[in-house]
Amino acid sequence: MDTMKAITVYAPNDAKMEDVKKPVAVDDMMVIKVYRTGVCATDLSIYSGESSFIRSGEITLPCRFGHEWAGVVESVGEKVTKFKPGDRVYSDNFVSCGKCDACKEGKYMECKDTRSVGTIKCWEGCYAEYMYMPERHVFLLPDELSMDEGALIEPASIAYDAFKGANLDSSKTAVVIGTGAIGMISAWLAKYYGAGKVILVGRNDSKMEISKKVGVDYTINNRNENAVERVKELTNGKGADMIIETSGAESAFLQCIDMVARFGRISVVSFYEKDLNNIPIDKLVHGCVSLVGAAGCDGNAQAVCDIMCKNPIKLTPIISHHVPFENSLDVFENLSKYNNEKIKIMIDFE
Ligand SMILES: [Zn+2]
Ligand SMILES: [Zn+2]
Repeated sequence: MDTMKAITVYAPNDAKMEDVKKPVAVDDMMVIKVYRTGVCATDLSIYSGESSFIRSGEITLPCRFGHEWAGVVESVGEKVTKFKPGDRVYSDNFVSCGKCDACKEGKYMECKDTRSVGTIKCWEGCYAEYMYMPERHVFLLPDELSMDEGALIEPASIAYDAFKGANLDSSKTAVVIGTGAIGMISAWLAKYYGAGKVILVGRNDSKMEISKKVGVDYTINNRNENAVERVKELTNGKGADMIIETSGAESAFLQCIDMVARFGRISVVSFYEKDLNNIPIDKLVHGCVSLVGAAGCDGNAQAVCDIMCKNPIKLTPIISHHVPFENSLDVFENLSKYNNEKIKIMIDFE
């Protein structure tokens, strides 16, 4: 068999599953059979054409997308030393050039010519039966982690950035806004890092119920409760020591400013896709609040994998759907069918 099935986005709302050439492992490259692919909001925006990266020209169509995955090594090139067929693996979400001075020294994150898996300067992505990856960006998936967890490492590595430099402890309250996968993972991380109270603000009761399985202590439904007042109540008037804003809604960002504690921190892990006007910036200044942007740095994958192994709370309850690869286009073509319950949709290849 020298072909495999893969999905390519050709134009907005036009993606095809087709037979493409199956890669062959040479040198330091490996061919890895994909077992799980997570559907990301970024994938949905690439499919619909709404992605800001398409507008900026950083993603061009056609694009073989998909960047959240785990699989099993099928074959390795002759220079591969750390892996053999049958190894369970996950990967970085970028591929370095392998040739520049930084790469030669093993400082792949300093490479100036990286390509992102399935997104910017697209390295061929994981809505495909096989991935083609250089050994230097692939890692062994520990036995205690499932393939589902392996495919959650990439989105978790985005949320992980929101916590860099934060110091949570049992006296602190973390508030997460948004019940998508990044919101759920942020709540899971806040608990792992020791926040005394983790509060989730959302609009969907069934998703908020699920959040309690990944570490959330209190939920606030933003539709019928005043989130700012509730957070103040739950913190004896102090406000949230750390807020992780994952919703991308301007109104939510304004709520952050009203519910953050003095000397608190707001980590923003979402794109708004527009400039925000009328931000009461003086409130941030007067409150000595840190405002941190977090979009996921390269090189977080192994640290996140380590947390998954150590954290007694499993992240897998956030997987709301399993869809077989043969039917995976349905997720894009009939998205509204999934929307109410959707947190993380997982594509299964078995
Ligand atoms: Zn993603
Ligand atoms: Zn390089």
